[in-house]
Amino acid sequence: MAYRLNGIAELWPGFASGRGGSFAQAAVDSKGVIGAWLCASGVFPGRWLALTMASHSVCWWAMAANVSIGDGCGIAVLLSGGLDSAILVGELLRQGERVYPLYIRASLAWEEDELAAARRFVAALAQPRLAGLVVLHLPVDDLYGGHWSVTGQSVPEAGTPDEAVYLPGRNAILLLKAGLWCQLHGISRLALGVLGSNPFGDAVPAFFEHLESALRLATGIPLTVLRPFAGLSKVEVMERGRGLPLELTFSCIAPQEGIHCGRCNKCAERQQAFHAVGLEDRTLYAGGSAHRPA
Ligand SMILES: [Zn+2]
Repeated sequence: MAYRLNGIAELWPGFASGRGGSFAQAAVDSKGVIGAWLCASGVFPGRWLALTMASHSVCWWAMAANVSIGDGCGIAVLLSGGLDSAILVGELLRQGERVYPLYIRASLAWEEDELAAARRFVAALAQPRLAGLVVLHLPVDDLYGGHWSVTGQSVPEAGTPDEAVYLPGRNAILLLKAGLWCQLHGISRLALGVLGSNPFGDAVPAFFEHLESALRLATGIPLTVLRPFAGLSKVEVMERGRGLPLELTFSCIAPQEGIHCGRCNKCAERQQAFHAVGLEDRTLYAGGSAHRPA
């Protein structure tokens, strides 16, 4: 394999451990059987009615029991540790969703600091409807080679265009693993904080539609990829972040001893975002401000 998959355990812990998951998982997994039994016994005249009622009963029970497994009712979010995906987690929680944050380690230069930020943000928002951060592994260093994202050398500085920070196939890589995780955990929706202004090929609507089809073909399990911020500007997304601990998020591609460098492309974008919406930027920058808004 071109990449390292750290065993099925990280995708399907219950199966890999031999425990078969918890009782709650067994109940969720059996909802189709429940529906079939109801049909066969003649309790309900219609198969779909029976399946729907059985499925919903399991969902209601699972939510009431606050089980930390896929119950078909929650939504997974690809959390990068940056502003947009962190705000998306907060927004979905505000909407009453049960949220499963996912972080994918890819062996990129800034990853340790980014992951630490993601953990801090999730901990700060801790509540019954927010599951613990799930960390998956999908290294790309063997794929990207000497790319700046792996070496940490000559990273794009402030003032460089968006294209300078493009990571080849980033969304394709992340979504395959995250999508499969959702399918194996009974979570039918996966959300990304991608904005409509994202200019790259793996961020356009057609890409997500084809990806949904491909994953459904691969496993037979439906999955919907959602982009709630696709129709919003950066300013509109930042507005939704008011009241969230955004200082705990992380955007830098050249961190220095765990803090934002203040000089790279992503630090400049971060500073511009805070300034544009009039929010105080409480981020600690090692090199001072890279962007001095007019
Ligand atoms: Zn930086």
